[in-house]
Amino acid sequence: MSSLEIKDLHAEVVTDEGNKQILKGVNLTIRSGETHAIMGPNGSGKSTLSYAIAGHPKYAVTSGEVLLDGENVLEMSVDERARAGVFLAMQYPVEVPGVSMSNFLRSAATAVRGEAPKLRHWVKEVKEEMGKLDISSEFAERSVNEGFSGGEKKRHEILQLALLKPKIAVLDETDSGLDVDALRVVSDAVNEYKANNEVGVMLITHYTRILKHIHPDFVHVFAGGRIVESGGKELADELEENGYVKYTDKAEPAK
Ligand code: ADP
Ligand code: MG
Ligand code: MG
Repeated sequence: MSSLEIKDLHAEVVTDEGNKQILKGVNLTIRSGETHAIMGPNGSGKSTLSYAIAGHPKYAVTSGEVLLDGENVLEMSVDERARAGVFLAMQYPVEVPGVSMSNFLRSAATAVRGEAPKLRHWVKEVKEEMGKLDISSEFAERSVNEGFSGGEKKRHEILQLALLKPKIAVLDETDSGLDVDALRVVSDAVNEYKANNEVGVMLITHYTRILKHIHPDFVHVFAGGRIVESGGKELADELEENGYVKYTDKAEPAK
């Protein structure tokens, strides 16, 4: 059993014009086996939350805590966070020209597992996971995300999830850029991972459609840099019907 505890998290985005406060007191605990949907309007700080957890250098935590099984995540380097079992599937995956997907994945797996996976076993493992995600084998030799479509990038993020086997997975708008068929393929892969691994999932999304495939145990409304309401699946249905208007009024920051 693992848990990720986020306590009164405040964070700023670091820009050339100075820092801007985005997260204004986020509180959330995610335990193994639970899926928490984080739903909110654009610009409310959902990606900032994901980056603050993963340790992106452009997002500075100013106060609060993030603990993984009681260990202070905020003191860990990005690599240490990954090794500890925290995974982020980014909203906008980065391109890495000149590095093949297969080399990238093997390096990542080596870093996370602490030893290089045995080559024959690894090749089989990657092939199998790529097959489940309908990723053609030619992608193994292509540069990471370079010239990939939005949907291909998202599949690659979930391929990493399947291979790196995190304890806590943060999926930031994994549904964006996916057509109906790709959404099903990606959701099936996430559900299979959930079924076979004790994982806690933070599923960040703007829309309810992915929640028809990946069922949340908890739904949180995120507005103005913090969680303003929490509930079950019924809350997502209500959001689908009424949108976020009601919550953007409530989103005045807690100072
Ligand atoms: P969401 O994911 O909910 O759409 P974000 O976390 O991406 O929200 O953004 C929250 C706010 O922070 C927005 O106002 C956005 O413009 C601002 N922001 C995020 N990243 C940057 C950045 N690198 N430079 C400047 N502003 C940023
Ligand atoms: Mg956005
Ligand atoms: Mg975002």
